Amino acid sequence: MNAASSARLLVWIDQDLCTGDGICTDHAPEVFRILEDGIAYVVEDNVVLNDPGGSGSLAVVPQRSEKAVIDSAGECPGECIFIEFEELPELDRAGAPAVGRSASGA
Ligand code: SF4
Repeated sequence: MNAASSARLLVWIDQDLCTGDGICTDHAPEVFRILEDGIAYVVEDNVVLNDPGGSGSLAVVPQRSEKAVIDSAGECPGECIFIEFEELPELDRAGAPAVGRSASGA
């Protein structure tokens, strides 16, 4: 397993600071969307997470979109795109989560 597969990226937007300029939607339209209120929200599996929004709406970023999301956060004029990393459990050789695995067999 490589290091990239042991963590995933999550993203949320502080809508109170969003200027609605659309830089994020230009970079990663599959992760960001501007709604009728002119403000950007995060998207996961093509579902806009606007309820409740803010830090209460964390979207998992597809691996193919990670760079675009990081670039968006760096260029966001509102400085309101927040990225978090979530560690995933290590997998054993059989591909099952090692956490909770029984040590029986004697
Ligand atoms: S780049 Fe930032 S300020 Fe601009 S629309 Fe996206 S979240 Fe809002």
